[in-house]
Amino acid sequence: MTKTSAARVYRGTPRNLRFLAQQLRRGELVAVPTETVYGLAANAFDAEACAKIFRAKGRPATDPLIVHIHDLAQLSELGVVNDAALKLADTFWPGPLTMVLPKKPVVADAITAGRPSVAIRMPQHRLLRQLLRLSGVPLAAPSANPFGYVSPTTARHVRDNLGTKIAYILDGGPAAIGLESTIVDLRNPRAPQLLRPGAITRDALEQVLGIPVAALKRSSDSHAKSGQLSPGRMKRHYSPKTSVVLHDSLADFPRRDEAYVCIRRPAGRLPKNVFWLDSRGNLRAAASRLFAMLRELDAMGFRRIHVERARGEGMAEAINDRLRRASAY
Ligand code: AMP
Ligand code: MG
Repeated sequence: MTKTSAARVYRGTPRNLRFLAQQLRRGELVAVPTETVYGLAANAFDAEACAKIFRAKGRPATDPLIVHIHDLAQLSELGVVNDAALKLADTFWPGPLTMVLPKKPVVADAITAGRPSVAIRMPQHRLLRQLLRLSGVPLAAPSANPFGYVSPTTARHVRDNLGTKIAYILDGGPAAIGLESTIVDLRNPRAPQLLRPGAITRDALEQVLGIPVAALKRSSDSHAKSGQLSPGRMKRHYSPKTSVVLHDSLADFPRRDEAYVCIRRPAGRLPKNVFWLDSRGNLRAAASRLFAMLRELDAMGFRRIHVERARGEGMAEAINDRLRRASAY
């Protein structure tokens, strides 16, 4: 296929999976479903294939990629493993947790953006696990969106954004979690640090490790410093084109040309420009709807999008982290 032809969306049949695994081995890009968000995958052992990811996304070469693995043998092939990593892997893998470890020489600089560390995750999505097994190689994959835009949670989102840039999209249904993975820095196993909050909470990590996990510093910390370690932490990221304004709570909806997004459905009769992420305010459900909602509202031409912050810890932290960045300028 040429660059200008439209991407084809494949269902996860055994035949399609074999075909897509073969394309990956040959150095082609395939957009893949994961339980967090859709990823744009390439053979992690093929530096030229990984370079294509950056071109398709318009991603700066300074932003490293997460490497997705099928099994623990691949973990020790890519990273320098420690006890803390093995404990977390044992509890949370396959699942939405990414660990940063010192890298082995086999990992190309293109993947780590020249860093001596590599970010590794064993994803849970059934189709991606099959693709990893069939391709026989680890897959480097960032989110399958143009750099800086809202991450995709459906195959349709990927086609809308990258349809002219890539040839293959595997459809695995809407992403169950809908927010990017939790990233924990384990280069020093005695001083783990949260780099990006996600569905696996800091609390859950601490319970397994039995030691404190340093919290994600707020975006007011040194931007340059944190941006260098984990560019997914850059202040403005995951943003729609329409400007987003955050509120501790939303109770009135004064402007008809602006959208209001509540966590749960407000009581009573509501104007058409009021939306909610989950009727009862369940935070897991709300998280899984968030990115699709931002995309839909972005397309509806509202002047601004007002969003209510989630309350509490855990999943609320992950939601509020994405909201903060969607609203940053
Ligand atoms: P994305 O999948 O688009 O959210 O991007 C992957 C994110 O993983 C990057 O933006 C970084 O935040 C993080 N990451 C990947 N590799 C590393 C690494 N070697 N050290 C720290 N963070 C990393
Ligand atoms: Mg991304």
